[in-house]
Amino acid sequence: MEKLDLQKIREEIDIIDGELAHLFEKRMDIVLKVAEYKKQNNLPVKDKAREEKILAKCETLVENKEYAEGLKKILRDIMDFSCDIQEKELKKDKIKFGLLGKKLGHSISPKIHKEIFKNLNIDEDYSLIELDENQIENFFKNEIKNYRGLNVTIPYKIKVMEFMDEISKEARDIGAINTIFQKDGKLYGYNTDYFGFKRMLEENKIFVSEKNSVVLGAGGGARAVIKYLIDENAKNILIVARNLEKAKKELEDLVKDRDNINFMDFENFEKREEEGYLIVNCTPVGMYPNIDDSPISKNVSKKYENSVDLIYNPSETKFLKYAKSSGKKSVNGLYMLVAQAVEAEEIWQERKISNEVIKNIMKEKL
Ligand code: NAP
Repeated sequence: MEKLDLQKIREEIDIIDGELAHLFEKRMDIVLKVAEYKKQNNLPVKDKAREEKILAKCETLVENKEYAEGLKKILRDIMDFSCDIQEKELKKDKIKFGLLGKKLGHSISPKIHKEIFKNLNIDEDYSLIELDENQIENFFKNEIKNYRGLNVTIPYKIKVMEFMDEISKEARDIGAINTIFQKDGKLYGYNTDYFGFKRMLEENKIFVSEKNSVVLGAGGGARAVIKYLIDENAKNILIVARNLEKAKKELEDLVKDRDNINFMDFENFEKREEEGYLIVNCTPVGMYPNIDDSPISKNVSKKYENSVDLIYNPSETKFLKYAKSSGKKSVNGLYMLVAQAVEAEEIWQERKISNEVIKNIMKEKL
């Protein structure tokens, strides 16, 4: 029997690996030419029919049929990688947008913006930008130049204000921005949650002028809602918060000198007899996965003609279920989410976008 030399066999394998690597690189260079062709001819990166044809050929490409399955696996991986680098190549020339935040794993913003691009017949890029606090400054120094527009979410809506050249009036009053537009080297900050909420109420024919409203919570979302209620001349606004002192302090600038705005804690709110026109949940209570929680009881819920929840997942929170079961109008936060994205696109694309686009996107599975 031939005496085997493992060292030598491995040297042979190393040579073959080197050849494979060389061929792999050669293949990828050609793949980039395919990307260029697809760009010129406006074709999608993925071509399923072509992939299936290549995989079907595997049996005929190897003499030892036992290797066919292994070759299939390798080619499948190579084709996936080819698609990735083609996608990257096609993205290079696209105008860039993104969502800046800390933890963005579950964000549906990219899907919404892709749907908006589809509706507007444009091909631009919207990506997620996850950063830690200590990376923010560097991002605004070195990376921001690559983006025409950004959305901003928790916990950076206030922090990023310091990097703006100009801030819109509503964003200044709210004290937070969720949209950045870069034009002629300048950064402009806006708060489109405000307009998203406005469009959602208008769409659902909820008109708050001279009506009594209740806002549950006193965070970022609540600020946009309260500002809108003030601008629309709501009669009385009651802010219900679990930590009254903190809420009063944080909202001081927004509510000062307004004697039609009052504060109450949840315990006393449960005992309150008064009825009202609108109640808006701006707390995360009831949000997935805590879907059995509600910030108020059914008994309180039935006192309000309209219940609006900023939460959109689940689509019907317990808070909204209570309202519905008492025959009241109930609206979830999805319309607001899509509308604030559309508002951001209006700023970035410098054009009006109709409510039809919002409705089209709402029909999609987001
Ligand atoms: P935030 O800034 O963190 O504010 C949350 C508020 O809820 C704070 O006042 C907080 O009180 C209060 N809160 C938290 N847990 C509570 C509890 N267990 N009981 C009573 N109050 C509680 O958050 P946000 O940005 O306003 O967001 C709030 C919700 O609105 C989230 O579910 C978010 O997804 C949703 N949202 C939706 C849209 C949309 O487009 N649909 C837009 C904005 C926000 P403390 O200060 O005492 O913690």
